[in-house]
Amino acid sequence: MKTYRIATIPGDGIGKEVIPAGRQVLEALAKADPAFAFEFEDFDWGGDYYRKHGVMMPERGLDSLREKDAILFGSAGDPDIPDHITLWGLRLKICQGFDQYANVRPTRILPGIDAPLKRCKPADLDWIIVRENSEGEYSGVGGRVHQGHPIEAATDVSIMTRAGVERIMRFAFRLAQSRPRKLLTVITKSNAQRHAMVMWDQIALEISKEFPDVQWDKELVDAATARMVNRPATLDTIVATNLHADILSDLAAALAGSLGIAPTGNIDPERRYPSMFEPIHGSAFDIMGKGLANPVGTFWSVVMLLEHLGEREAAKRVMQAIETITADTSLHTGDLGGTATTAQVTAAVCAQLAKATVAASRAA
Ligand code: ATP
Repeated sequence: MKTYRIATIPGDGIGKEVIPAGRQVLEALAKADPAFAFEFEDFDWGGDYYRKHGVMMPERGLDSLREKDAILFGSAGDPDIPDHITLWGLRLKICQGFDQYANVRPTRILPGIDAPLKRCKPADLDWIIVRENSEGEYSGVGGRVHQGHPIEAATDVSIMTRAGVERIMRFAFRLAQSRPRKLLTVITKSNAQRHAMVMWDQIALEISKEFPDVQWDKELVDAATARMVNRPATLDTIVATNLHADILSDLAAALAGSLGIAPTGNIDPERRYPSMFEPIHGSAFDIMGKGLANPVGTFWSVVMLLEHLGEREAAKRVMQAIETITADTSLHTGDLGGTATTAQVTAAVCAQLAKATVAASRAA
């Protein structure tokens, strides 16, 4: 029996509700399947930790995560702490510390979801966005001087390196190649950004030669927003810089019905370090503590986590359970126009998993 070591970091806001729900789903899966088990370790890092210790996570915190097989993360964000502190002090510290350079965001319209694009059939929207996750506009390089004076100045320098662009392009082409349509769109802005983005385009062309079976095109980021809305079926795999993909993937999540559904994986493709999986939504303070958060984004993140561990069959089972639940509108949470609670959705998914295993063992 394989035992996977999973770190759970609920973080802030509704992260504290959806991550325990994700853990329950993994536990239900393991209970029903003797092939593997999970050993969880929970970390109380985030806003409350910051209030006690002045930092979002301990200085040597990465050492406690290093030997894990994967990390399940909630969200970082606190109304009383500036966003750049919560983000850089926790989530980005892990992403950058473990060089999780590929951020992967699948988007589909799940059964039963009333998505906002009226002319878009569910089959028309099946995307996977690859976000460069280690440099670019969020490289963290910059500074601020003469604060409060009329001559105050601030910079955020976007850094792109050949090594960084090559590795994310190669990852994206490989991912596109693994999907049935073998179709990749490279998002750019090389008309206005005439240095780094021109290099980005040039490297895309170079890497494309390694993948002759992948059909690819380029799209300016502004035009890409219109294409996502007007011609969603022309897109499949999409690769973009840190900032561009950050924005496009929120649009993608909204077009698929709700921010509460969308998952993401921060992947170290070379597997030198654990990869981290999380719903794309933030802390959502307006609904926290009420048991109303949609846990589906976390459950889909659990699916990605299982796929990363190589447990494809189990991943498929969880995805099927999710889709059975979203198809039942009585199990929709408030973000989807329903009244179901986090606990009800979680119990329903766990019950589906138990049923799926009973059915599988009867069939055997
Ligand atoms: P942060 O600043 O941490 O990114 P935020 O509150 O600004 O967080 P999100 O949490 O990403 O932004 O979400 C915006 C809104 O979408 C929330 O206020 C909430 O109403 C809704 N929302 C997001 N996630 C969920 C969810 N899982 N379930 C239900 N509603 C959600």
